[in-house]
Amino acid sequence: MPTLDRQVIDRPGLDTPVIGRSTLQRLIDGVATRIIAESVMLTELDRAIGDGDHGINMRRGMEAVLADIGSTLDQPFGLAMQMIGRQIVASVGGASGPLFATWFLTLGRAWPPESDGLPIEPFEAALQAVKARGRSDVGQKTLIDVLAPLTDAIRAGVGVRELDAVARRAAEATRPMRAERGRAAFLGDRSIGHVDPGAQTVALMIETVAGILGVAEESVA
Ligand code: ADP
Ligand code: MG
Repeated sequence: MPTLDRQVIDRPGLDTPVIGRSTLQRLIDGVATRIIAESVMLTELDRAIGDGDHGINMRRGMEAVLADIGSTLDQPFGLAMQMIGRQIVASVGGASGPLFATWFLTLGRAWPPESDGLPIEPFEAALQAVKARGRSDVGQKTLIDVLAPLTDAIRAGVGVRELDAVARRAAEATRPMRAERGRAAFLGDRSIGHVDPGAQTVALMIETVAGILGVAEESVA
């Protein structure tokens, strides 16, 4: 069995730390708290090109994740991600609930028992699963437009701290896009000029993770 209740340790030549229990707690708590704190802004984005519920949906999901954090932390990383997927699918409706749930479930199922750094395979699998579930691909102004650059960056060996900038750029890049999936697609050209709410949520999650793991790295360096 994997021993993932190790503390964050530094590995020479690796730019990403091993995720221990205390780090996992800070990641889950940090991501959920950030999304809850930004939920009004996320709802505003969805009001511009959707039905104005994205922040409300994600807030409900993150509250469910926080409510169950104790049992989630008892699991190794892969199982913990699957539990988060189930918590999201049970609490978030709309288009985004099943898509976020699919990402976490697939990432968790594909996560190797022992891993140093960020293995690319689970991220590839999770991206493909979300694409299949949403019948969507890059360039259609959805959360895929942040998940795909994240996956590309991990494949390219980009350091965890730099994922912050990757996520910000990718979310902003949805602004000039014309929506071709989800409710925003009904707006056609009128969807142009607004950041996609789902893409913004993914970017906030990545920024939070990058910040926490970046600091964890520095503290053991
Ligand atoms: P709903 O659209 O049902 O109100 P939300 O407002 O919670 O759900 O989520 C909207 C977000 O879901 C969009 O901003 C977009 O990123 C994402 N989304 C919607 N449909 C799809 C799809 N087919 N593929 C990928 N992402 C999608
Ligand atoms: Mg909506």
